[in-house]
Parts: sequence; structure tokens; C-alpha cells
Amino acid sequence: MSTHQPSPIAPLQAADHDDLDALGVLPAHLARPLSRLRSAWQRWFLWVILAALVLALVGTVVWLAGRHEVQQVQEQLDRDTLDAVADLRNGLQRNAQSLRALQAEPLVPAQWEERARELLRAHREWVRIEWRDPSMRVMASADTPYRAPMFEKISRLSVDQADVTLACTSARKLSGAAYSPSHFVPLAEGGGMEVVEMCLQLDKGGYLVAAYSLRDTLIELVTPSLRRGQEVALMEVDGTRLAAVGAQRRSGTRVFSSLQPIDLPGFAVMLRIDGWRAEPDLFPNVLTGLVTFISIALVSVLILLARDTKRRIKAERDLADSLAFRKAMEDSVVTGLRARDLDGRITYVNPAFCKMVGFSAEELMDSDTAQAPYWPTELAPEYQQRHAARLAGGIPSRDGFESVFMRKDGTRFPVLIFEAPLIVADKVQTGWMSAFVDLSEQRRIEEQTRAAQERLQASARLATVGEMASLLSHELTQPLAAISSYANGSLNLLEQDDAAQASVAVQSQALGDLRMALARIAEQAGRAGRVIRSVHDVVRRRERTRESVHAQELFDAVLPLVQLQARKLGVRIELHVAPGLPPVQCDRTLVEQVLLNLARNAMQSMDLPQITRRELTLRASRTPASKVAAGAEARRWVEFSVADVGLGIDTEVAERLFTPFFTTRSEGMGLGLSLCRTVVEQHGGVLAYEPNRPRGTLFRFTLPAAQGATAP
Ligand code: ADP
Repeated sequence: MSTHQPSPIAPLQAADHDDLDALGVLPAHLARPLSRLRSAWQRWFLWVILAALVLALVGTVVWLAGRHEVQQVQEQLDRDTLDAVADLRNGLQRNAQSLRALQAEPLVPAQWEERARELLRAHREWVRIEWRDPSMRVMASADTPYRAPMFEKISRLSVDQADVTLACTSARKLSGAAYSPSHFVPLAEGGGMEVVEMCLQLDKGGYLVAAYSLRDTLIELVTPSLRRGQEVALMEVDGTRLAAVGAQRRSGTRVFSSLQPIDLPGFAVMLRIDGWRAEPDLFPNVLTGLVTFISIALVSVLILLARDTKRRIKAERDLADSLAFRKAMEDSVVTGLRARDLDGRITYVNPAFCKMVGFSAEELMDSDTAQAPYWPTELAPEYQQRHAARLAGGIPSRDGFESVFMRKDGTRFPVLIFEAPLIVADKVQTGWMSAFVDLSEQRRIEEQTRAAQERLQASARLATVGEMASLLSHELTQPLAAISSYANGSLNLLEQDDAAQASVAVQSQALGDLRMALARIAEQAGRAGRVIRSVHDVVRRRERTRESVHAQELFDAVLPLVQLQARKLGVRIELHVAPGLPPVQCDRTLVEQVLLNLARNAMQSMDLPQITRRELTLRASRTPASKVAAGAEARRWVEFSVADVGLGIDTEVAERLFTPFFTTRSEGMGLGLSLCRTVVEQHGGVLAYEPNRPRGTLFRFTLPAAQGATAP
């Protein structure tokens, strides 16, 4: 990438390169997957930490909320217990006062019992009330109407006496109410109950004793709402349960307990309330619910994010792979690639293009938009025009076009260019994309082929000439030898005649022989003439192959060959065919040969280092009447011309220009121009030349237009 445009893949790769890679400790094919693995792991590691933290947070919040809830329940229970204790204390105090009121006025035992029964009706917690004299003897007593009398007179006197005495002794000391420890009283119908005696010392002497049923005390004195959903119990200090009321514990619930002492004079007892809440108490209130809901949402978002990250990592990996693949493709193609933005600035070049022109990617991208460094100086104006037309929105042909580029070392080379608008995803054109094919090698091969063809043609021509020469020499040897021997014979005859003054008869005989020899000489000379004519006829035979051809067709036939050489020599070709030109009547092959010869001579004349602008102009037009050969005015003529911008023909060369075998080139044969003239003249036309303006030479020749032909 170092020599190319920084592509989007660069940051990815940079991220991939870690220390190990940089140190080159690992081989490249291992380093890449390893570093990838590491970066993916690093990413996941962060996610795992985040997930763990969120889970820990959620767990803590839920636990705290649950603990808060438990505390609240416990506090509520403690408050309830305190309330219950207060209820009990107040109730017992009120009861003691009610009892005291019973004794407010002096009563006889019968009256007292009447009043006591009323009280018992109002106080279910009392089982029995007794009036006792200071010596603890029962003066009057009343039992609760709500159950069968529990105490036998006997038992009452014997068994409970100690407890009651103890309570009354305390009452006397306190001069108020005192209680006995609880004791179990069996019931007639089975079972039994815990009972506590309360003793109240009377001002006038004697005591009032009330037996409390502990269970009924709880029922009557504790606010009913405290018993709802929980169990209220009285216990001894050692934990023995004395009495309990309220709801039974349900299974699957969690128990909360609260214990409070009720310190009554003479009777130490504990009040215990057991409450229970449904288990599991995970979402006990709105706060915890809300926290839990938010936590679940958080965890869900976390999971979604993790999934998204996973997808992203995969997409990134795919993208990196496809970018690497594309880069590998761009780097390995031999076609040069170049992208330009809409301002004409080069934004991308592939290595093939850099190699082709010899400039680095940085040099190319930093180059001036109006003058690319690989444009040959002499062609720059033309390229600038083409560039401007492209920027103005000109659509290039899809077939591509040929051009010449310059390498960094100044050498020129031909390229085939394909250009297309660069259109990005949302169908917006962002510039131009071009592909370049270096034609140097192709041209070299074409040139080799052309040179080989040319050599073949030259040798073929030479062979024909040689063949013709041997034919002529062979055919002419006989008549020439005959002529020579007849001439020698004749000379001998004349000498004999001079030496011996021969007789008239002999003289007349010699004269006859001389005449015969001369006749033979004339005959052989005639034969030699016929041989030559027959060779001429070989050439003239071609007359039969004449056809009607349009000038454009003739040019079309020779242009490929001409262009081949023109490219090699850097010659620009201009072709002008006048519109409405009639076709010419000619031997197509020979005329093509003429055009080829003239064009080739013209290009060779410009193959000089001092000539930089090389131009070859081919033209076909109607011949002005003034230039038509004498006696041919009546016919229509077409004039062909071939002009170059070489150094022209100096007078020395001009004198021998059309002489066969005259040439100034080392590899030339000197037959070209003479052959051209022969061919043109065979067609009745004229081949001539003149200096071209501003410099160079212009060869022109005329050919007859086909009779009755129409313009193309
Ligand atoms: P050849 O091409 O084999 O040398 P030609 O008969 O075609 O033989 O040309 C003879 C000579 O005429 C050339 O060697 C060259 O010196 C000269 N000549 C022909 N055409 C031109 C031209 N267009 N400009 C200058 N000299 C020319």
C-alpha cells in the first residue's frame, strides 16, 4: 500500500498489527489470524466484564431491596408486639380498677356475687372472682358464665392456695395489684388452660382475687387487628408457651418473630408475635419490582448489544477480507488503473500503472491536474483539450482509443485507453475511471511482422526482376548470337571481296550471301524485339484487371500498413477525401503499391531527430483541368497527393529521382519511384512532385475516373 492511495483497508490493517507482528516474531501467515483473534478477544473481554458488572449490580440491588423489605416486615412486627404489650398492660390495669370499683360500697356477700357475675359477663378473660378476708378465707365468689365452673372448692383451697397467697402477699407489699405465676388447670371436658391469679388488696382489709385465663386475656385485651395473619403468644422466660391466639403458620412461608417482656408484679412473662410472609419474597414491593424490571431490560439490551457486536465483528472481518481480495486483484492485474475525481485530480493508481509510467503513486497524485507527468510535451496541448472535454462531461467511447504516454525516463510508448464515468453506489458520478494497456510489446511484434513482410516483398520483387532478366538474357542470347555471327559472316564476305578482285560471278554470289546475312540480322533483331515486347506484354496483361475503385477504398486498403510505420515513427496521419469524388478506373493492386511507396518515402524523409512534428497528409480530389495531360482534357481525372514535412529534395537528388536503382538510403533499392511512374503512366496519368509548404515534398499523380461512374 505504500505506493498507492491510502484505501479504507489501511486503518483496519493498522489495527490488526500488534507488537508481535511489528517485531516480525511470527511468520506473516500466522501473525494475521493470531492478531485478529487477539483483537476479537479483547473486544469480547470488555463485554464480559461489562456483563459481569451489570449482573453484580442487578444482584446487589435485588438483594438490598429484599433485605430492606425484610427489615420493614421485622420493624412492623416489633411495633405490633410493643402495641400488643401496651394493650395487655392497659387492659390489666383497667380490669384492676373495675375490680376495685366492685368494693366501693359496703356489700353483703350475696350482693357482691350479683355484681361480680355482671362483671364476669363483661370480662370473658376472667374465669372466677373471689372475695377473701385478710386471712385468705373465701367470703364470696363468682364463676364465669361462659364455661363450666373449673375450680372445686377443695382444690381451690388446697392446690392453688400457695399461688394465691403469694400473689396476695405481693399485693399487700405493693398495696395494689399483684399476680401469681401461671398454673395449668385441667378442664372437665378435657384439656385445660393456663391460669394466672391476680390479687388486689382492699383498703378495708381483705383481698379480691381474679383468675385470668391467659388465652382469653390475649383474645380480649389485644387489639384484634394484631392477631390477623400472625400468632400472638405468651411465654415464660424459659421459652415455655403458655397460651397462643391468632392464625396458624402456613406452609411455604417465612417466619418473622418479635419478643417483648411484660413485666407484671409477681409474674414475669414474654409476649411473642410470629408473623409470616409468602416465600419466596423476591419481588416484595414496587421499588424492587422496578429495579428488577430495569435490570432485566439492561441485561436484555446487553445481550442485544453483544449480538450486534458479534455481527459487526463478522461484517468487519468479511469487509477486510473482501478489501484484501480486491487489493490483491488490483495489485496483480497487468492493466493500469487510474481514478480521477471531477476536478481531474488523480485519486487512485494501481501498481501496474505506476510501473507502466515509471512514476510513484505519490508523484502521480500530487501532480498538476492540467499537466500529467506522463504526457509527452509535444502532445500536451492535444491531451489538455481531451482532458477538458472529459471534465466538461464528454462521454468517452466504450471501444477505447489509442494514445502515446511518456515514461519517467522520457521514452514514449503507445497505450490503449478505456475510460468510463466512476459512479458510486447512490448513482452519483464522482469522477472517471480509466484502464490502460501498454501496446509497446504489441507494436514491436507488429513492426517485426511488417519488416519481415517488407523484406519478403523486396526479395519477391528482386526475384521477379532476376527472373525477367534471365528470361530476357536467355531469349535474347539466341537472336543476338545469330545477329553477331551473321554480322561477322558479312564482314568476312566484304574482306574476301576486297582481297581477291573476284570475278563478276563471284562478286554477285557474295552480294547474294551478304543480302541474305543482312536479312537474317534483320530477322533476328525483329525476334529480339518481339521477345522484349512479350515481356512488355506480361506487364500489359494487367490492363485486363482494371476495375472501378473509390479513392477511399484505396486509402482504406493501404492505411493499416501506413499506420503501422507511422506509429513507430510518431507520425500523425491526415486523410482528406473530397466529397462526391467519382471512382477511378485502375489496377487496384498497382495503385495501392504506388500509394504505399509514396507514403513510405514521405515518412522516411521525416525520420530525423530534428523533426518533432511529423505529419503525413494524404489527399484525393478532382484534378483541375489545367493539370490534366495534353489530349486527355475530355476525360475526368482524380488527383491523389502525398505530402510530408521532411527536409525536401535537393537538386542533386532531384536530377536522378526517377532513375531505377537510384537511392540515398542504405537499405533502399531505388526502384520505388520509377515503378510508381511506370504504373501511373500505364494508367495514362502523370506522376510529379513539388516542394510542400512550409517545408517537405508533395508527390501527386492522376488517375482516370471510371466512365459513367457515380460518386460514392
Ligand atoms: P528507395 O525508396 O528504395 O530509396 P525510391 O525510388 O523510392 O527508392 O526513392 C529514391 C530516392 O528518392 C530516395 O532514396 C530518396 O532519397 C528520394 N526521395 C523519394 N521520396 C522522397 C521524399 N518524399 N522526400 C525526400 N526525398 C525523397
